[in-house]
Amino acid sequence: MKRKCIFCKIYNNEIPAKVVYKDKKFIAFYDIKPLAPVHILVVPKKHIDSLNELKNKEKGLIGELFLVIKKIVKKMNLINKGYKVVINVGKGGGQIIYHLHFHLLGGWRSNEEREEGEMP
Ligand code: AMP
Ligand code: ZN
Repeated sequence: MKRKCIFCKIYNNEIPAKVVYKDKKFIAFYDIKPLAPVHILVVPKKHIDSLNELKNKEKGLIGELFLVIKKIVKKMNLINKGYKVVINVGKGGGQIIYHLHFHLLGGWRSNEEREEGEMP
C-alpha cells in the first residue's frame, strides 16, 4: 500500500466510496465524476502505478480481475446490453490516479432503443 494513494485508502476504508464489490484482492466502486450512466472503477488491492509497471508475476491477478469485471457486469445487468472497459495510461492517456484501475462504462441506450435524432 502507498500511504498517500487515494485508491489504496478507499480499499482500506480510509476514504468513503460507493462500493459495489470487494474481496481480498479487488474493489469496485462508482466513479465520483461519471462519464456514462454506469461508471465503475475496478481496482486491484495491490498498488501498481499503471499498466506500464505491470509485471509478469501479476498476469494471474489481471486474469482474475477480468472475471471480477464480468461478475460486476452481471450484477449491473449489462451482460446483454454491452459495455466498455477502458484503461488510461500516463499523462497522454489521461491517467490521473496512479494506481492501476479499469473503467467499466455502460448503461447507454442501444441504437434500437434510441428515438430518431437522439444522441447516443
Ligand atoms: P484515470 O483518469 O484513469 O486516472 O481515472 C481516475 C478516475 O478516478 C476519474 O474518473 C475520477 O473521477 C475518479 N476518482 C477520483 N477520485 C475518486 C474518488 N474519491 N472516488 C471515486 N472515483 C474517484
Ligand atoms: Zn494505491
